[in-house]
Amino acid sequence: MYDFSGKVAFVTGAAQGIGKETAVLLAKGGAKVAAVDLKEDAVAGTVEAINLAGGEAIGIGADVSNMDQVTAAVERTVNELGGIHILVNNAGIIRDNLLFKMTEDDWDAVMSVHLRGAFNTCKQATKYMTEQKYGKIVNLSSRSSLGNRGQANYSAAKAGIIGFTSTLALELGKFNINVNAVAPGYIETPMTDSTAARVGVDKEDFKKAAAANTPLGRVGQPIDIANVIAFFASDDSSFVTGQTLHVNGGR
Ligand code: NAP
Repeated sequence: MYDFSGKVAFVTGAAQGIGKETAVLLAKGGAKVAAVDLKEDAVAGTVEAINLAGGEAIGIGADVSNMDQVTAAVERTVNELGGIHILVNNAGIIRDNLLFKMTEDDWDAVMSVHLRGAFNTCKQATKYMTEQKYGKIVNLSSRSSLGNRGQANYSAAKAGIIGFTSTLALELGKFNINVNAVAPGYIETPMTDSTAARVGVDKEDFKKAAAANTPLGRVGQPIDIANVIAFFASDDSSFVTGQTLHVNGGR
């Protein structure tokens, strides 16, 4: 377990899946956590889990693709929790379809949440991080950044996250801000359940097929990703920046 005492973490998409697991893990390490998702109600369970574990958290409703809402969310975090030291850009959506069926709205929605969302939160959080000369930014990319049938929008956005990450690392290193990305493979969350439903495959069969194609013989769990995010958020990785770590069981 890493020691995050005295640190404040801002985790987006924290209502469920990887974001919830990450918020709880960082809090268990002593961070105060702003759990952010589209609706404040949706993060009540995350805040409760953190409180039950003896941690401190606030829930914030904000759409990461909206700069005004992100600005207000970051300001609220700083005012109520006393700063912002760790930013985890985890909020995400999928709008999968083959190119000929993909709509302009499908394209724009995915770009807005993943790329504009990460841009917005980084713009706001780094105002504080550069002043305090300390920050850890962890962005969620994906194995799909290498290409995945039916995911032209998502794949492009997640490849964009890698370029965004390495560029921010170059710009922000002199402020002692580390910027890294985690690229998960198949992780069992509501997102992968919805993919199974969309392609009309039972979710257990979908999981089995993914596990069979994975050298480690299983699909990932949210904690597998949260553990790596925690490493990048910790001072144990203080000489690591601009990197994307694939966490996919060797697939
Ligand atoms: P998830 O279960 O779908 O959770 C994502 C959360 O983000 C949801 O609570 C969602 O709210 C929220 N969200 C969506 N749009 C938002 C917005 N505009 N502003 C704020 N919050 C928003 O997803 P997950 O599987 O945990 O994935 C987390 C991250 O890892 C994503 O970036 C995803 O692309 C990436 N990833 C996941 C996998 C995987 O296999 N699961 C693999 C590679 C990468 P709603 O439910 O209301 O939309």
